[in-house]
This record gives sequence, structure tokens and C-alpha cells, in this order.
Amino acid sequence: MLKDFCKCKITNSFKFEADFSADPIWCNVCGWNLDIEDFPLSDKLQEELFEWVSEYGKWIDLEADSLIENGLKLVENHNEKGFQLFQEVKKQLGEQFPIVFVPSKY
Ligand SMILES: [Zn+2]
Repeated sequence: MLKDFCKCKITNSFKFEADFSADPIWCNVCGWNLDIEDFPLSDKLQEELFEWVSEYGKWIDLEADSLIENGLKLVENHNEKGFQLFQEVKKQLGEQFPIVFVPSKY
């Protein structure tokens, strides 16, 4: 149970999802973006998470607002890597922090 994390008084439901310039852990109740430093994750894993998030959206051509060539493959790879990281996150967080994986859509 975590208090004063987000708009919820108490939340014990989290989701793992990449977005532009955001930490990959969110409150699954109010949708608030949470600070991964507040979670009991190893420094190494946090670094890997930042790296993974920084790759988010590379499949989007922002000017044309469409997928780049091979974009689908990039999304797939990113989701695959994300799922691996999610497993590790889940393991390190333990039962106190129920978390679900939300893959990127395209
Ligand atoms: Zn919340």
C-alpha cells in the first residue's frame, strides 16, 4: 500500500506502460504517472527502464503522424523488451505492488 502517490488516497493497483517522456509505472486507478524512484527497484533495472522508455515512439513519424517503414516491427520489439522488463519489475516489487503490463498500440 502506498500513500500520497497520486490522487488516490491509497492505491495498490499499478500498470506498466511506456509513453513519451514519462516513467513507465502508472496508477491503474487514476492514471497518474508515478516516479519509479519511489519503488523498490534496483538501480540497474531503473536504468534499463529509462533506456527502454527513451526508445518509445521511434516508430512514429511525428510530422506525417503515421508509422515509419518497419514501424510495426519496432513496436513489436519494444513490447517484447518491455514485457521482459515487466517480469523483472514484478519480481522486484513483490506481492505488495500488483502491476499489469500494457503493451504499446499502433
Ligand atoms: Zn491513483
